[in-house]
Amino acid sequence: MFSNQVDRAHYAPHTPYNDNPQSIGFRATISAPHMHANACESLLPFLKPGAKVLDVGSGSGYLTHVIAELVKPGGSVVGIDHIQGLVALANTNTAKSSEGRELMKNGGIVFVKGDGRKGYSEEAPYDAIHVGAAAAVHHQELVDQLKSPGRLFVPVEEDGLQHIYVIDKKTDGSVVRKKEYGVRYVPLTDSYE
Ligand code: SAH
Repeated sequence: MFSNQVDRAHYAPHTPYNDNPQSIGFRATISAPHMHANACESLLPFLKPGAKVLDVGSGSGYLTHVIAELVKPGGSVVGIDHIQGLVALANTNTAKSSEGRELMKNGGIVFVKGDGRKGYSEEAPYDAIHVGAAAAVHHQELVDQLKSPGRLFVPVEEDGLQHIYVIDKKTDGSVVRKKEYGVRYVPLTDSYE
């Protein structure tokens, strides 16, 4: 199911097709392809054409672009990162392909700067929210910004161990939280800028 329309070479500076994370500067990494695939697979039932999605910790912009391809036509993805240099990098990377340029022009992708732990209320609610860095607590604002139904994919650190949580807001508004597999992400932090 992985979108073949987004070339990882536009987003990863070295050995783009190896299945490991890589530094992209600014103390950030582009996640390994298998983690991007896991995230997309988990969110896929909510990534319908026209869907609205928030990508927290958008970093290189790669996953933001992949998700934007999956919600075409009519969908939109907001990528939020708290480092201005990474917001700029994501824009530069996405502009390397004609598909990316078109999405940035027609509102299919927007990169913004901000603290993603608070979500991005300006564009809420979302069909799906992806978090690309480990949360130290469960951020209620992210759940609040989900549609009913909607799904949040978020790594959460508890007692020094990180696990993926898949949190569903059901049609009736009830919230179901599933703890899945162990992972290693960089943390969601205060901005150092
Ligand atoms: N999905 C990205 C992952 C980048 S690494 C990719 O594959 O390229 C995690 C990102 O989370 C970094 O870019 C970092 O700057 C960002 N980040 C960390 N804390 C954040 C916060 N509080 N708000 C927004 N972004 C944050």
